[in-house]
Amino acid sequence: MGLVRVASFADIPLAEVLPGEYHAVLGDLARIGSELDGRGACHWFPDHVAPPATAESNSDQPLISIDVSFAEPDDSIELGVVISWGGAAPLLTVWAFADVMCLCQTFHGVHSVRDDEWQAVNGRELVRGFRAAVRAISQLARTGPAAAGPWRVEAGLPGSPMEP
Ligand SMILES: [Zn+2]
Repeated sequence: MGLVRVASFADIPLAEVLPGEYHAVLGDLARIGSELDGRGACHWFPDHVAPPATAESNSDQPLISIDVSFAEPDDSIELGVVISWGGAAPLLTVWAFADVMCLCQTFHGVHSVRDDEWQAVNGRELVRGFRAAVRAISQLARTGPAAAGPWRVEAGLPGSPMEP
């Protein structure tokens, strides 16, 4: 069971997913996460719940992800918020990201065009980072650009597979 998709952020069992250091702020996190309900899909990752054994072993393992869509989704752009282990427990990282599909002649999968992160070692820091990430992505989803083209230009990426 790699990941569980749920209909709304409130369906994520936060007390099961997040380490005890964060349990005092679960209500705040649920309220903030619900701001993205209806704009995308929420997932949690049962296989990643156990704390990483070392700072490196699990540092990129997501615990919670929210994929956010524009009102008229462009399949070649992905927006989202991720809470992952940031290293040895209880260090967590919150990411706010936008990726566009790669159109290079050499295929890279996706290219990151927006990538902000916040580190948290306690509930106060997690609330602060999660709130900032959710607001950043919520604003992007509202204001766009909702098509990948302008993002490609801004990031200096090729606009079609024929360009070098
Ligand atoms: Zn590429």
